[in-house]
Amino acid sequence: MKNGTKSIVILGGGTAGWITANLMATHWEDQDFDITLVESPNIGIIGVGEGSTPPLKGFMEVIGTEESDWMAQCDATYKMGITFRNWSTREGFDEYFHPFLCQPDEFTVPAFFHNSFLRRKGIDLDGHPSQFFLGWVMANQRLAPAAPPNFPFNMEYGYHFNSGLLGEFLKGWAARKGVKYRQATVTDVVVDEQGFIDYLKTDSEDTIKADFYVDSTGFRSQLLQQALGVPFESVADVLFNDSAVVFPTEPDENPEPQTISTALNHGWAWKIPLTSRFGNGYVYSSRYVDDDEARAVDVAVSEA
Ligand SMILES: Cc1cc2nc3c(=O)[nH]c(=O)nc-3n(C[C@H](O)[C@H](O)[C@H](O)COP(=O)(O)OP(=O)(O)OC[C@H]3O[C@@H](n4cnc5c(N)ncnc54)[C@H](O)[C@@H]3O)c2cc1C
Repeated sequence: MKNGTKSIVILGGGTAGWITANLMATHWEDQDFDITLVESPNIGIIGVGEGSTPPLKGFMEVIGTEESDWMAQCDATYKMGITFRNWSTREGFDEYFHPFLCQPDEFTVPAFFHNSFLRRKGIDLDGHPSQFFLGWVMANQRLAPAAPPNFPFNMEYGYHFNSGLLGEFLKGWAARKGVKYRQATVTDVVVDEQGFIDYLKTDSEDTIKADFYVDSTGFRSQLLQQALGVPFESVADVLFNDSAVVFPTEPDENPEPQTISTALNHGWAWKIPLTSRFGNGYVYSSRYVDDDEARAVDVAVSEA
């Protein structure tokens, strides 16, 4: 950031934009920065991310929110890990639980690493994480990780949430921290002689100028790729899945606090419990299956 920076524009109001706005406003609350988030009223957000890993818990703590502030508003549930079904064809390994390591696991995890090490040497010991991590027990007993205040260990976990509602919550939280919000579609980016962004032109013939710009425009990459020419590096040769269909179903009143991820012929399906619905989706490779076929498979999996 240039010396003397006073004004910051975050372009884009999806997850990336509102997370950035909240972090900047929190870390620099004592400094005299003017932070504005600009979002197009015509270009939508992706808005389908429904599951997190434990860093979201850390983020919420950093920006000063309590679970009671946001979880109910965002239809959120706890997430102790992910069960992967049918990802391996090896006998006895048709299911694998990916836990989030937390402090109480320290007592049992050394045995897990020991067994895993010896398995690689060909000795047939139990190497399933589910037998060694508290997260699996809690997920299967449908228990929340909300420990009493005098519980002497830290619990780590993620969340499931409605990402549209989470975006709304983060927008409100950022406003409380003084982040300004403006609706405009940026149509052109003017770059100065040194190659820095000078100002942004909008569809209302208005301009937006700041000392520092953050590109949160998602796939459009309006500032980085389009204006500054930062190249897009495709990994399509190793990551085949490039499409998804989503399909909500009725919620379970007392869901397991875990994501279910099932490997399918042309990709994989997720099943995520929210308080208001199950979020289901099939991420697939369009080289091998089209939308209609994918949707049919997704319905079958979500009903399983
Ligand atoms: C099927 C699927 C499932 C996913 N599941 C998960 C998950 O479980 N967990 C997870 O963490 N992530 C998940 N993701 C990823 C996650 O959804 C995305 O990474 C995230 O939503 C991207 O947010 P973003 O803010 O970068 O972009 P977007 O949501 O695309 O937001 C872009 C913003 O930029 C604005 N904008 C763009 N161009 C302009 C312009 N010219 N002028 C003004 N404003 C502009 C738009 O108006 C919008 O506000 C999933 C993604 C997909 C596709």
